[in-house]
Amino acid sequence: MRAARRTQRLPTGGLTSLLGAGREYGAVDLAVGTPEWPAPPENLVAQAASAVAGYNQYESPEGVRALREQIAAALGAAGDPVDPETELTVTVGASEGLCVALLSVVDPGDEVIVFDPSYENFLGGIALSGGCPRWVRADSAGRVDPDDLAAAFGPRTKAVVVNTPNNPTGHVLTREELDVLGALCERHDTTVISDEVYARYVFDGRRHVSVAEIPSLRDRSVVVGSLSKSHAISGWRIGFVRANPALSSVLRRVHIATTAGAAGPLQRAVVQSGALTERDWDPTAGMQRNRDRVVELFSRAGLECLVPEGGCYVLADIRPVTERASDEFAKRLLVEAGIVVAPGRYFFGSGAGGDELVRIAFNRRSETLDEVERRLAAFGTVAG
Ligand code: PMP
Repeated sequence: MRAARRTQRLPTGGLTSLLGAGREYGAVDLAVGTPEWPAPPENLVAQAASAVAGYNQYESPEGVRALREQIAAALGAAGDPVDPETELTVTVGASEGLCVALLSVVDPGDEVIVFDPSYENFLGGIALSGGCPRWVRADSAGRVDPDDLAAAFGPRTKAVVVNTPNNPTGHVLTREELDVLGALCERHDTTVISDEVYARYVFDGRRHVSVAEIPSLRDRSVVVGSLSKSHAISGWRIGFVRANPALSSVLRRVHIATTAGAAGPLQRAVVQSGALTERDWDPTAGMQRNRDRVVELFSRAGLECLVPEGGCYVLADIRPVTERASDEFAKRLLVEAGIVVAPGRYFFGSGAGGDELVRIAFNRRSETLDEVERRLAAFGTVAG
């Protein structure tokens, strides 16, 4: 059997082998983004148990209406109303949302602009849609040069994928950056697919600006969100896509073809818990403290950390402590310190870059970070 050509361009899942090795060494995992902290809200978990007692069949594919209303209320709190009936679709995590968006917008052979570095799975969705990635290199702080961005647009450009706050750089797109993007997308009749799964984690008094708040992008964007990170329920697989009514009806048809809907009882549990509109549950300040702790620990070990503006990851430059490439350095940190971090090259889909970087996840419990501190101290200076 010869597999379909589109599968050849799917990412190979670079982290998997390192994680296997990590388990072998009893290592502390700071590589994957799976939330260890915060814990999911207790009431949310309790509601899941009771929801399966009552709801076990298909729900409407676009998602439980009451859940869409709560998502709309949460998104609309920023002063930007969303119509839950026509503009929101519940998906199986942001992962399905991203694929649905790309499959809905991109034809085989179309170009999709994507920033380098990026979340690895963008490449997967682009491959499934038959699109061709067109990489635009971000600087070390995660910003792209407006001229480089403008130069990437051409007659075959169909979509731009952005991610704010960003995995792995932590950059939070500013209104000015989004205005530049909006003007280019308007000129080239291009759709923005905006992964905003880390919207809740924005630090130092910054504000998350959704592409939907930019007038030129409101009707030419798909916002992809998720409860995986915001409520630490990555296993529930609940995400959503927001788009104008015409595009939403296309997204829904693709979504019916891919999954026909996210897990019904878990959608009900979210509704019953009221977690999306709960004001007292706010992990942002705690996440910022985790960020500061991880930056401090790894800076003390000699790495040059980029302090992220948002998200759950620190991108750190290893050149002050080693001449090795980051995958070799990560191996050494694993074997000698028992800590797993992600080599930077996994996030450079263009295939060039990241050898001087590692990505460190900080959505971890403070006890885990205490253990990291002990291990890094025993490791001494990380030089070599
Ligand atoms: N987008 C980004 C930027 C991510 O980092 C992740 C998970 N690490 C996802 C999407 C996947 O989210 P979900 O669990 O909702 O599919």
